[in-house]
Amino acid sequence: MAVPLFDTGTALAPLRPAIEEALLRASRDGRYVLGPEVDAFEGELAAWTGSRHAIGVANGTEAITIALRALGVGPGDEVVVPSFTFWASAEAIPPTGATPVFCDVDRDTLCVTADTVAAAVTPRTKAIIAVHLFGNVAPIGEIRSRTGLPVLEDSAQAAGTLVDRAVAGPGSTTPDGDGPLRPGALGDVATFSFYPSKNLGAFGDGGAITTNDDEVAERVRTLRFHGSSDKVDYVDIGYNSRLDELQAAILRVQLPHLQGWADHRAGTLERYRAAGLEQHVRLPVAAPGATPAWHLFVVHHDRADELQAALTGRGVGARGYYRTPVHRQPPMAAFQPDGIADLPVTDELARTHLALPVSATITDEQIAEVVAAVAATVG
Ligand SMILES: *Cc1c(COP(=O)(O)O)cnc(C)c1O
Repeated sequence: MAVPLFDTGTALAPLRPAIEEALLRASRDGRYVLGPEVDAFEGELAAWTGSRHAIGVANGTEAITIALRALGVGPGDEVVVPSFTFWASAEAIPPTGATPVFCDVDRDTLCVTADTVAAAVTPRTKAIIAVHLFGNVAPIGEIRSRTGLPVLEDSAQAAGTLVDRAVAGPGSTTPDGDGPLRPGALGDVATFSFYPSKNLGAFGDGGAITTNDDEVAERVRTLRFHGSSDKVDYVDIGYNSRLDELQAAILRVQLPHLQGWADHRAGTLERYRAAGLEQHVRLPVAAPGATPAWHLFVVHHDRADELQAALTGRGVGARGYYRTPVHRQPPMAAFQPDGIADLPVTDELARTHLALPVSATITDEQIAEVVAAVAATVG
């Protein structure tokens, strides 16, 4: 039995009729850019994340650039960012005029910590990008209180992850209440991607920015629309970066199902453990107080490349996503004139990590198949 690395189709199958109906509604409405679907989705996403504002943009990469600019980041500034992440987390910094400064991550959570961030902060640091990698959670409140700097949560991989209010930290910006706490409402501003393979995926590109700060929200709204609120007066050099109506209509059908899908993803860690995976590879570790909606199920092994090849040969999806970490990619050398950053944990994780199959609908049979294939390969 082949087991795919990820599978969005099975979860979406029962929603197809509702999605097609929504597409027809949006296409007949005719207001294709910043119309009623985006408006409604923004309200629903804000309520869901527990943020005061959600603003749709074209994709998760521009979301980061725009959110940084809304925080006031510009030429001459530095932005601290982990290197063990998807390329776009750092690629989004230079378009603001600022310089990426790379920091290391925790060997267990694979996310930045207050210590790794503090080690990269200089007097020029204007903001910090904390990535909730693979669905795990970075300690946003702790980073904010330690550095006193604004923190952007790159939540592209963490839609559906839950965080215990008690551990969110006094430094988090979260409004009071006792509802579930989610990435997107912990820092000064947060970004999401709705790329099709993400936990909440559109049928094309899409993204969003959430924040509890009214001024940041207002700047984001202006920046996504050419730096103008009325197409008459222009207050900034902005972007044409909007979530479109058809994608918003599709996302609105899915949003009410996201937590159910996320819960299934979250349960995968225990199911892999129960199936004996821990005897063969190092398992992911949830951050304290977090229930990660594992976007990717990433394990570690000294011979990860060998394991990847053997699993692929057996029809089991496996992939090392970040074998060359961002700070070692050639275009980032220009931002490290004094030499490539020394990030020992990142280098180790880049070599040893391996994503195994996970999805909102993965079955016990599929999990057993993956574990059997791993056992047969590494013993
Ligand atoms: C996917 C992703 C992005 C970029 O999102 P796009 O919508 O593909 O532009 C940024 N950061 C992380 C961590 C991601 O996984």
